[in-house]
Amino acid sequence: MSDSLDRLINIFRNNAELAIRVKHLIYKYVDKLRREGYSKIKIMNFCGTHEWTTVHYGIRSLLPDEVELVAGPGCPVCITPSKYIEEVIRLAFEGVKVYVFGDAYKLPSVHKVGRASCLADAKSMGADIEVVYSFLDAIEDFKVKKGEALFVGIGFETTAPSYAMPIYTGLVPDGLYLLSILRLTPPAADYALSAAIEKGLEPVSAIVAPGHVSTIIGAEPWDRVSRKFGIPTVVSGFEPADLLISVAMLLKMIYEKRIGVEIEYRRIVNYNGNTEALKYMYNVFLKDEAAWRGIGFIPNSGLRLKEEYNRYDAVGRFGVEEPTKETWVDDLHPQCKCAEVVLGLKKPTDCLLFMKACTPERPMGPCMVSLEGTCSVWARFGGGGRADEIAKSLGLGE
Ligand code: SF4
Repeated sequence: MSDSLDRLINIFRNNAELAIRVKHLIYKYVDKLRREGYSKIKIMNFCGTHEWTTVHYGIRSLLPDEVELVAGPGCPVCITPSKYIEEVIRLAFEGVKVYVFGDAYKLPSVHKVGRASCLADAKSMGADIEVVYSFLDAIEDFKVKKGEALFVGIGFETTAPSYAMPIYTGLVPDGLYLLSILRLTPPAADYALSAAIEKGLEPVSAIVAPGHVSTIIGAEPWDRVSRKFGIPTVVSGFEPADLLISVAMLLKMIYEKRIGVEIEYRRIVNYNGNTEALKYMYNVFLKDEAAWRGIGFIPNSGLRLKEEYNRYDAVGRFGVEEPTKETWVDDLHPQCKCAEVVLGLKKPTDCLLFMKACTPERPMGPCMVSLEGTCSVWARFGGGGRADEIAKSLGLGE
């Protein structure tokens, strides 16, 4: 490991002294805000990795009662409509080779196709489905294969350029098609922030914007979201100290009555984003209204291939039936609360199936599948207070 990387990890992960100093700063600002009449400060994140850091490192347990960290729509697997998975299973059974990322392999569909309700089932029944790490890996693998194949293109802005670049530069071999289920985070953030207001719930007071996504899109789109809702935003990194610093920055901005965006993750993110990656992305894709699982259609929240790249489009080639507004039905198990969990309106523990019928080994809803799904994170690391319960039963803590 290089010296500079070592130093960074020490600063951001193993620096207990820094964490304690930032914690004191957080308490200082909450004290000031309390005196100004604030009783609740709800901070929403929009990235599954932020929720992972929050739960894995017990960040919530370090914060004053007034500060509530809430998970928003931050996991692309969780919001991929069931209809796409059903269509891909159908095609796999018809003989089309399928490439997919590992975290979507067990994503459950609402309706069974054949007897399969996820791609893992279909593979166990003989379908040709291969888990890969990237679109480029699929390209390499497919070069020595015959026939036709489809890549399940799930992801947010972080992943979109990795599809766009090979398509734009002609690296994709004939016979390999992309099923674009790409989604954009700022429109979903807008939707989630509006949902809390519309439902008369405690409105969100501040945003922790996703570091990975912002590496591509920059901080500018968050500035717009921030100003629309009149709340501050900080683009945060993913180490525990990054998150604590971001919370402190947000509290300071609230106290100073400042809106707009600030960047904590300066070692990677800038205001305008990665212009080269954005160029590839918007040369190949265009924005469109798109369906989000359990939620429905959000304007300008999806990316579909432009007409000039139709020859790579799995929708046209295989007649993939996409969800439409007219045919849209709620695509969750009737008791699954993923839609509310994704919008930050409910916690995983509010779902009656959490860690009973629905577990990481046997997921019943999409938020329990990916390592970044909120239910999965809470189930594996005790976000529902299970770690506290166990500690108490061992005579540790209060
Ligand atoms: S615990 Fe399972 S069923 Fe319940 S909301 Fe989470 S994913 Fe859905």
